[in-house]
Formats: sequence, structure tokens, C-alpha cells
Amino acid sequence: MKNLLLGLFAVATLAASAADVTDAGIRVARFKGDREAALSFTLDDGWEDNATVAAPLFDRYGFHVTFFLVPGRIPLDDREKPAHDYGKISWARWKQIAQAGHEIGNHTLHHQGLRKLDDAAVRAEIDGGRQLIAEQIGVTPVSFAYPGNGRDDRLRKFVYAQHAVAREYESGYGGAKFTTEKANGLVASALQQKRWMVSMLHAITNGYAAFPNAGMLEEHLKYVQPLQARLWVDTFGNVGRYVKERDAAKLDVQRDATSATITLTTGLDANLFNVPLTVVIEHVTAASAEAQRAGAAVPLPVTIEADRLLVELMPGAIPVTVRWRTR
Ligand SMILES: [Zn+2]
Repeated sequence: MKNLLLGLFAVATLAASAADVTDAGIRVARFKGDREAALSFTLDDGWEDNATVAAPLFDRYGFHVTFFLVPGRIPLDDREKPAHDYGKISWARWKQIAQAGHEIGNHTLHHQGLRKLDDAAVRAEIDGGRQLIAEQIGVTPVSFAYPGNGRDDRLRKFVYAQHAVAREYESGYGGAKFTTEKANGLVASALQQKRWMVSMLHAITNGYAAFPNAGMLEEHLKYVQPLQARLWVDTFGNVGRYVKERDAAKLDVQRDATSATITLTTGLDANLFNVPLTVVIEHVTAASAEAQRAGAAVPLPVTIEADRLLVELMPGAIPVTVRWRTR
């Protein structure tokens, strides 16, 4: 049985890499920076210590994370006493957190189980949450998390009409049985499997699924930090959109000895799907390189590596020309 599984895995890997690489040795990287795997930390419900403990901790380690808020539970007036655990942090503080680079995602207006609601009520909960976050934060959310992770195809129809990405799977962190070793092991296996891992946290010190002690989360972040050369850590919305754009990407390429002209399109809604993809140009030993979209004033970022170039490229119909001088 073991041999059979190994055999199947080898075939699948070969097929995938053959499809990725165009004849010109130019391909879209699996994850930003051609890293092997990705990790998004998501924190649900807007628990008080998400803002007082978690946000400063993630800031200290330089990780941008996603807070899935329940906006209808947050008082519009800061002086009002919150009626719910999900409303103890003010909009002003959440806006600060968003401005520090974190993502505010939509977890519905009131956190009701959506599957028991009729279509009109579902739409009110989903769209209402999105609109209130947009008004209060000043950024329209692109990401959604289902209350209680209750999801089905009827709900997806409403969710994806308004959001680029929704959380469809997750690895739970926290709770009495949580250990740092378990979380570290989940990240290690995501790296090994070259996939996108989505961590789901709730309260940190006080509230639903809080950690046995707050230091455990920091211990985990200390484990994750040095892995970043291989592991892309970013918000749910950034990684989720990258993955969808990558999977929809079509590359049109012309290449000669010192340049390549690349058109990268996805066919996706450019208002929602506007995360640059990493395009890898293999077999280049460059002394210098530049990339420019036709007609654009500002050059695009290019990273020169030992035997290849990485270009950060926003999908679009206008071609980008990359030129390099060889060493
Ligand atoms: Zn929740």
C-alpha cells in the first residue's frame, strides 16, 4: 500500500510541474516569492484580547493576520457599553489595527447560524456585515468566514457574490488541549505538503478556545518566523486571492536571450482580484534586470537570484517586458 501511494504521488508531482512550466522556462510561482507553502493566521469574532494581546504580538513578529469581525455587535458610539463579548473593542481601535497592515474580514453582521435562515435573512447577514465593515474601517472586506464554520452551497452563492475568498477549511488553535508542538507540527506538514495552511484562533487569554497560557502563541510564532524563506505568511485575503489568481492564470510569453515579454491574465474580476503574482523566469544569470508594463511610468519589482528572475506582476491584458543584462 505504501509503495502504491508513493508511486501515485510521484506521477502527480511530475504532471503538475510539467503543466506549470511553459516552453520558455517562465511560470507563475505556486506562492509569492516562489515559496514552498503559505500560512494565514485568522482570528474569529473580535474577542477583546485579539486587539489587546494578539495584534501587538503579531506586530512584534512582523506577521499580518486576519481578524474576522462581527460588526453588528460593535457599538457605533465608543462611549456605549458593549452588549456582547464580540463588541468590546472600538471601531477606532480596529481601524488602527487595519492601518497597521492587518486584514478585517467579514464574519457576518450578528454571527447567527446561517443555514437555518431564509435567503433574505442570509443576504442581510452577509451583505450587512460587509457594508458595515466598509463604512467603519474604510476598506471593503474581500474575505469571509462562516459563523460556526457552517457552510453549504446555498450560502456560498451569497458569499462569493460579494467576497473574493471565504474560509473553507481551517486548523484550530487554542483550547485546553492546545500545545505549541501541535501547532508547529501542523506548519511543518503544510511545508512538506507544499500547501496553504489556515490557522483559526478565537480568544487568546480570556474567552472561547483561549490558550492554556498566552506564551504558547508566542512560542509558536518564534518557530514560524525563521521559516519565512520557505513559507509565505500573510493575510487570508492576500494568500487566498493569490491562489485563485494563480489557478486561473494564463501566460502568454515571448522570450529571447536578454528579454521576455509576458502577458498574464486571469479572467477574474480585477476589482477583487488585485494581488500581484510572482512570475519566475528560469535559466537567467543576470547582472541587472528591469520590468516595465507597456505605457506605465513605474517599473515593476524584479528580484535577481543566482540563476533566475522573480517578477511581481499584477494580472492584466497589457504586456510586461522584462530585460536583463547577463553576467
Ligand atoms: Zn465565530
